[in-house]
Amino acid sequence: MLIVGNWKMNGDRASNVQLLRALLEAGETPCSLAICAPHVYLADCAAQLHGSAISLGAQDVSQHERGAYTGEVSAAMLADIGCRYVIVGHSERRVGHHESDALVAAKLRRAWEAGLTPILCTGETRDEYYEGRTQVVLRAQLRGALAGISATADAVALIVAYEPVWAIGTGLAATPSLVQEVHQFLRRELAQLLPRRVPLLYGGSMKPDTAAALLALPDVDGGLVGGASLNAREFLAIANAAKQSPA
Ligand code: PEP
Repeated sequence: MLIVGNWKMNGDRASNVQLLRALLEAGETPCSLAICAPHVYLADCAAQLHGSAISLGAQDVSQHERGAYTGEVSAAMLADIGCRYVIVGHSERRVGHHESDALVAAKLRRAWEAGLTPILCTGETRDEYYEGRTQVVLRAQLRGALAGISATADAVALIVAYEPVWAIGTGLAATPSLVQEVHQFLRRELAQLLPRRVPLLYGGSMKPDTAAALLALPDVDGGLVGGASLNAREFLAIANAAKQSPA
């Protein structure tokens, strides 16, 4: 079981130190923890987390390997600074920055080349949900992102997150029955694309009061937590709601 905090574009040096200190002082939780900090703070976080059980991740990565790409951050740089994970294809990038499945696929490849474990985000919009297109959308996102990887599939580490766009930052988490249904679907789809079990995280307004029911579902291996990850008490309450499982 893995709980990942996505800090998004929040925090500053002083508040990051406080937040990480509170997580570190809390000691063991029944699951693994990771936090994905803004690029500019990754080095500070890496230093503070050094030697601890909490892993570090980034929120995005360039599709380019290196070179004249002003403002971009490469996968090799993220690995160099101590990242283990990188979020790829978050809906805030797909929607707000027009990231296509092809771009997401290129970013996944860069992450793998650098030895990072990408957390591939998938999810349908509110309209797609009401039109009953969730499965069609998720299938296209998975196939678009993972097209042609079978040759190297044994080598790649991958986590997939189901994050319904309508549940992100809205306070409206998906119901446990919907999450289980969608995760079961993702599990079946992924089994056709990759030769091994891919951990599946749920994300979208996960809070201490909704976490236990979501994390107890048979096809949920953890959570991707936005807003609640900015508060150590809430993030730890979610982590403590998790049972041990193989993610
Ligand atoms: C997210 O952005 O990945 C997320 C899950 O956000 P929130 O928990 O705030 O809905």
